[in-house]
Amino acid sequence: MTKRVYNFYAGPATLPLPVLEKAKEEFLDFAGTGMSVIEISHRSKEWEKVMTDATNLIRELMGVPNDYKILWLSGGASTQFFMVPLNLQLPGKAMEYVSTGGWSSKAIKEANIYGEVKIIASSEKENFSYIPKDVEFSEDIAFGHITSNNTLYGTAWGYMPKVPKDVPLVCDMSSNIMDRSIDVKDYGVIYAGAQKNLGPAGVTLVIVREDLLNRVPEHTPTMQKWKIHAENDSLYNTPPVFPIYVCKLALDYMKEIGGVKEINKRNVKKAKLLYDVIDSSDGFYKGHARKDSRSLMNITFTMSSPELEDKCVKGGTARGLIGLKGHRSVGGMRASIYNAMPFEGVKELAEYLKEFQAENQ
Ligand SMILES: *Cc1c(COP(=O)(O)O)cnc(C)c1O
Repeated sequence: MTKRVYNFYAGPATLPLPVLEKAKEEFLDFAGTGMSVIEISHRSKEWEKVMTDATNLIRELMGVPNDYKILWLSGGASTQFFMVPLNLQLPGKAMEYVSTGGWSSKAIKEANIYGEVKIIASSEKENFSYIPKDVEFSEDIAFGHITSNNTLYGTAWGYMPKVPKDVPLVCDMSSNIMDRSIDVKDYGVIYAGAQKNLGPAGVTLVIVREDLLNRVPEHTPTMQKWKIHAENDSLYNTPPVFPIYVCKLALDYMKEIGGVKEINKRNVKKAKLLYDVIDSSDGFYKGHARKDSRSLMNITFTMSSPELEDKCVKGGTARGLIGLKGHRSVGGMRASIYNAMPFEGVKELAEYLKEFQAENQ
């Protein structure tokens, strides 16, 4: 048996072991072709089945209605930061964003290239420690944009903002896609880099309502039009085959264990374990996110000194609990416990943190 650690890195992140084993097992001879999945033609029927299966699994697991297209694109979620305004802008209309962290700031920066951006709510003054309350988008705008989970700060939206009927809501779900059940109909566009909750880095899932595909200005480079990718089932050019293939395996696994409902149940249980340690530590561990804005995916906390935090990270590493150092924007520690993080890993971390407190208080 290969030695596996518990990997709390924020992304690329841990994947289910059965998924990795399956990829290994099939690597040299994919579907009886005598070739690896990274060697076969992306126009072959074997490959087309992988893509169709992956797409159908997303549709099934997330309950994506038929009038939405599911795209597999390269360039990371960061590419969507400009593809969103490029594909959805409307002349003379503003684009409204909610500023809840580093990634939404980057999205806002790109939108500014295309037109007027209004930041309708922000938690920046309090180091993005919460999700603004009662957010309401305006009538007559091109679109509204939110980031459902803020990876660096450990906050997540716990409610839906108010959005006028004709305004599409765009959501960056990179760090919490499928961490809970959602109603896709509430959104015009959903996008997510795969490397936190779906698979390896290199592919980004985009779910877009069909009627929005026609907004894109004609004089747009072909590859930057969602419409082109939609018309070609994400096979306009060579897609990132290996990441899509591993996503497909991960989606199979998610379905097998009971789908998004079951995943959410596990996530709630996992997150509670760590938040309970923080809340019962008498201030030894200080949670960064406000209680009403806590993420199920990224648990962020600090301690009384950087030295102590450093010691805690190192002690974790020595026990096979890897990747606990916080992002520099918050400091301290961050445990990323995405969908694929097993309960046992979180339990070990919770036990370690309790022990660490007892020994260092
Ligand atoms: C990681 C992350 C991104 C960036 O994804 P890339 O695929 O590296 O471009 C964007 N948004 C959120 C919320 C993220 O967590």
